[in-house]
Amino acid sequence: MTDYEWLTQMGLCHRCRKKKSAPDKKFCFDCVEKIREENRMRYDPEYAKAYRSKRRELYEEKKKKGICIRCSKKATHGMYCYECSIKTKRQRQKRSEKEKAIRHEKGLIPDERKRRGLCLWCGKAAVPGLQCCEKHREIFREAGKKNVQKVR
Ligand SMILES: [Zn+2]
Ligand SMILES: [Zn+2]
Ligand SMILES: [Zn+2]
Repeated sequence: MTDYEWLTQMGLCHRCRKKKSAPDKKFCFDCVEKIREENRMRYDPEYAKAYRSKRRELYEEKKKKGICIRCSKKATHGMYCYECSIKTKRQRQKRSEKEKAIRHEKGLIPDERKRRGLCLWCGKAAVPGLQCCEKHREIFREAGKKNVQKVR
């Protein structure tokens, strides 16, 4: 069973995967609302601008009043309440760890491919003596020899 089918069968929202989806819909009411908003912002720059400045206003107001900008409780830790400050810190940490892992992985790919005699760009078998496959050799040839040297 695919993820999609599973969510449909469980009657769960395909977006947040937590709430029950609305009748005959793939998403819950909250997400339908959010999706509508997002679409509107995508196609209506005026609306997007208004929306952003509204959010900005709310943010400034909360900050001024000393209210947590995430949950509207009393802000005791900078712009956040205690719980939200911890949550935000954790989220930030997680994100930077993830980014680091991705960077690390990406950094390893060329080495691994070089070692195994694969094309550095796509991982297919490289032309003997070169560090790229037939297809990429053609691509680089088209792009001109100068670029090949630049890429390497
Ligand atoms: Zn949802
Ligand atoms: Zn809070
Ligand atoms: Zn290739």
